[in-house]
Amino acid sequence: MTQTVKYYSTNLKAPRVSFKEALLKGLAPDRGLYMPESIPQIPSGRIDEFGTMSYSEIAYAVTSTFLREELPDKALKNMVKDAYNYPVPLEKVLGNRFIMRLDQGPTASFKDFAARMMGRLINYYLERENRQLLILTATSGDTGSAIANAFYGLRNINVVVLYPEKEVTNRQRKQMTTLGKNIRIVALPGKFDDCQSLVKQAFSDPDLEHLNLSSANSINIGRLIPQIVYYFYAFAKLRSGSAGEKALFSVPSGNFGDMMGGMMAKNMGLPVEKFIIATNENDEFPRFMETGNYNKIQPSINCISSAMNVGHPSNLARLIALYGGIMDEKGRIAKAPDMDKMRADIHAVSITDEQTRRTIKDTYQTYGVLLEPHGATGWAGAEDFIQKYPQYNNENQLLVSLETAHPAKFPEEINKILDMDPQLPPSLKEVENKKEHVERMDNQYSTFKSFLLDQKNER
Ligand SMILES: *Cc1c(COP(=O)(O)O)cnc(C)c1O
Repeated sequence: MTQTVKYYSTNLKAPRVSFKEALLKGLAPDRGLYMPESIPQIPSGRIDEFGTMSYSEIAYAVTSTFLREELPDKALKNMVKDAYNYPVPLEKVLGNRFIMRLDQGPTASFKDFAARMMGRLINYYLERENRQLLILTATSGDTGSAIANAFYGLRNINVVVLYPEKEVTNRQRKQMTTLGKNIRIVALPGKFDDCQSLVKQAFSDPDLEHLNLSSANSINIGRLIPQIVYYFYAFAKLRSGSAGEKALFSVPSGNFGDMMGGMMAKNMGLPVEKFIIATNENDEFPRFMETGNYNKIQPSINCISSAMNVGHPSNLARLIALYGGIMDEKGRIAKAPDMDKMRADIHAVSITDEQTRRTIKDTYQTYGVLLEPHGATGWAGAEDFIQKYPQYNNENQLLVSLETAHPAKFPEEINKILDMDPQLPPSLKEVENKKEHVERMDNQYSTFKSFLLDQKNER
């Protein structure tokens, strides 16, 4: 018999809850992040079977290990089929080294994988109970558009997205602001961390409790579980079949939600040799791995991989929890994780903008593989790893580097580096000429609070 997985808070000061509660709450009442108390296992024979299955079939197989006691099988099957109606290309670079393109969803970002599934899960519960929810989220670019698109038109959900005015590209902005309906978009004259801080204050404000706030940021457990799937998919499709084969995954990282999906996959039984965690110049995590001391970067540094301009990754507390430590929401470590084990599993590396640009140029010119700044950060991280550890510098070693956005989302940068314009996928073409709806606001919590209270009154 399978048992229902319960979820605990990484701050350990809140009651354990069901999946549904964790999903609808987002953040735990003690401001910790929800983590599954036990991690379901997928036996290697089952992973073999994934080799001939479609992405949505694998998504069902993997997510149902967490969710099968939570909702009817049929509902989950329909959700994954509806959410994953686009391809997930695995592009060969050379030998057994691949780029996994997670950029074919409606917003051309890997965040579609998590957001579309979470939207459907939340909607499922709300509809059944005839309840309303206000989703508040801060974005440095891609989360906002993925969330806005994932919840667009859902009857029981309103969405407010905050973004730093100067840190998102025109196209990222248009993907959020051209929707309308139940989606409201707010521009702030600050940084991503400022947006995130306003959102966090709203969540802990008792005056707003009646609004039924929820977070759809990468902290929500409903986003984490779907992000486990593509690691299984990549391995099952690309493995050569040799005994004891293990994969290297390189993950360009900002808030560490993507990477946590991979870590969970490994803990569920996926054979992973190492995760390469590649950050941009916001190097708080690589430094932590080196020194054991954690210092967040405030304010975060502006890099061309803008969705990774994060000075304190919000999912870090989960990674620390997975290695037996405790980190609170401020980044203070109450109990150290097993650093030796972390170092055995993870190679963390910070990539400069200059390296990122050079990587975009080299991978295109050498292999004909087009990357954008986030995916290039991941690939540069993988190259750093195989140079430092030559035993892995072997073309038979399976290596999968994640491309997290479509190159056409960063046309200015690509044009500067390669003197060409990447072709727009249809999802991005559509928004070009639609009307935008944006609300501008100063960087004050009081302003934001009245905005939230007023919005409710209008309805
Ligand atoms: C959000 C994002 C990332 C970083 O993912 P995290 O889960 O926050 O680490 C990387 N690339 C792109 C394009 C993104 O939108």
